Amino acid sequence: MSRAFIFLILLTLSTLLIGVTTSLIISLFVCISILGLWVIYQSFQQERFLSWLKNSSYKTSPNCYGVWKLIYSSANSLLKKEDLQESKLRNNLLALRRVAEVMEDGILIIDNNNYILAINPRAERYLNIRQEQDCGSNILNHIRNPSFVEYLLSRSLNETIIIENLSIDKKALEFKLLPFDTNQKVILCRDVTKLRQLEVEKKDFVASASHELKTPLTVIKGYLETVSEIEINEVEKNRMLAEMLLQTKRMDALINDLLLLSKLEKSYSIKNNRPTNISLLMSELSKLSANVDKNQHSIHFNVEDNVFVSGTEETLRSAFWNLINNAIIYTQKGGKIEASCLKSEGGKAVFAVSDNGPGIEAHHIDKLTERFYRVDSAGSWESKGTGLGLSIVNEIVKKYGASLIIESQPNIGSKFSIIFPISVSLRTSFATLNAF
Ligand code: ADP
Repeated sequence: MSRAFIFLILLTLSTLLIGVTTSLIISLFVCISILGLWVIYQSFQQERFLSWLKNSSYKTSPNCYGVWKLIYSSANSLLKKEDLQESKLRNNLLALRRVAEVMEDGILIIDNNNYILAINPRAERYLNIRQEQDCGSNILNHIRNPSFVEYLLSRSLNETIIIENLSIDKKALEFKLLPFDTNQKVILCRDVTKLRQLEVEKKDFVASASHELKTPLTVIKGYLETVSEIEINEVEKNRMLAEMLLQTKRMDALINDLLLLSKLEKSYSIKNNRPTNISLLMSELSKLSANVDKNQHSIHFNVEDNVFVSGTEETLRSAFWNLINNAIIYTQKGGKIEASCLKSEGGKAVFAVSDNGPGIEAHHIDKLTERFYRVDSAGSWESKGTGLGLSIVNEIVKKYGASLIIESQPNIGSKFSIIFPISVSLRTSFATLNAF
């Protein structure tokens, strides 16, 4: 039973009682007075409630009783719920705005007439458009590139277009037009400069590799055609066979280097590898050098005992041998070569090969680690190597977080050093414990 109903019953009963005990007029007067007071009280409470709602001071509701207490507490919990939802929405909105700000992609919202409605900081930077001053202007007034204009006007939704040299810093930008709303569209733009460079490098690499393989193949083909078509004497035939064998070996070496490079590129980490005693590896390479060199040079090995590097023996051997072998190949007969493996004062493992060979001119040095780069590029295929040796060394060095330092002076000689970081240059005692 509601309080108002109880109040009305009590009022009727007390009016009847007053009417029976006194007079009807007095009882009516009392009843009307009480009802009047009640109406005034309710109006006052209503007013107070409305101003409380307006001031949103719902957290502290005024002292009251009965049904008004109930109204205040229900309104309070409703308002609290609403407040919670509002702050959640506000937080979500803020998070979305922050995401848009840190996104790698530029985002632009335009209307059907190409007027800019919103732009995130990345797009501002890429397109040199400012949210504050340029919102509301037509995007075609900012980007006048004919390909972009054509793309935008053709409204090719979900299709992409790449435009080079558009931004101030000459980046290649990829644009994608997406439907957003009936009256709005989103333009995504991202920086594809590196991707474009990689594509160009890939094409160059395929072209160079094909060229490198084609040249010895053409030689072999020529000899085979000669042998099969004309009568040749035994001496000439043997000379051709020897040349074909040389070219086959060259192709074999090239393919092996290419396979090694691709293997190195695929394997990302050398971490958690067992320690490799590079001092022992050096004694193995010392024997190999003597076999390959056949006393053409004076080769000296300077190796400190128990120098360990955390990494695979195979990759370390490949890097060291490439450098030692280059010194043997490029240093003139009777020249001096020194290979060393030492610990630096700071505890870093350092491998180095120096020679007093022809040396390399300064402008070549930065390019030496590029694939197929040879110093004697004129008639390069006739050179002694594949042009991939130093790029293999460089790839291995990167895997170890090491540095490859090339010092060279024409007519004086060259020095190639690999300095391993402390993190992979292991302490002897630790490495010895783990190695066995
Ligand atoms: P390649 O297989 O042709 O030797 P590399 O990448 O190992 O290819 O070397 C690139 C070029 O660097 C070589 O063609 C050579 O001209 C030059 N080079 C490398 N090592 C030496 C060295 N010790 N002395 C002189 N030139 C060198």
